[in-house]
Amino acid sequence: MKPTPFSVFRCPYCASRRGVIAIDCEAIQALADSPLRSTGPGQKAVIPSHDIDVSAGSLGQPFVVFGACDRPLKASKQTLCPHLIGLLIDIDVFHATQRGEIGEPAASLCASWDHPWLLKQDPDEELRPFLWTEVGEEPGDTFTPRNRWYLAPLRQVISQRRSRSQIVVSGTAIVAIEPVAFLREVRREFNREKARYAASS
Ligand SMILES: [Zn+2]
Repeated sequence: MKPTPFSVFRCPYCASRRGVIAIDCEAIQALADSPLRSTGPGQKAVIPSHDIDVSAGSLGQPFVVFGACDRPLKASKQTLCPHLIGLLIDIDVFHATQRGEIGEPAASLCASWDHPWLLKQDPDEELRPFLWTEVGEEPGDTFTPRNRWYLAPLRQVISQRRSRSQIVVSGTAIVAIEPVAFLREVRREFNREKARYAASS
């Protein structure tokens, strides 16, 4: 059986599988089992931690797969969903002990992606915290944008029976029908908020 990427997010605005973000459990498991982790008697386990920068041109990493859920895709065949604004994804691999307990992660991965508009227009990274924490639809959120958008918490626990381990995925994905219009709207509100704060202090 061929390895299957495990889907962790599907964009509601993409009709095709283009909007799928998946993880490759085999590649992640291989990382957790890699010789980096080998420990001698009395030595502490080494936890390899990988930061994946999935910005344009670096889709080639094997762990996070864009645009497929039913079969592995080569990096050259992968496409980012055109609605994606931001992605934060944490992946931890836990090995079960003899007694079935879950201890410290055997491997951790961290991947992030920001829309090119943000990289260019938000060099000081002041808009991004506003976007991640103040924008929403709950009472108490500072701002509810008019442009249609969707924020999804990512949460999956994948049991790997063969290797007696668990892959735990957490994170957040933000998509919008018109990413740049949405981001401009958020920017205008952020600027208003900043001006209000400056006037009151
Ligand atoms: Zn999409």
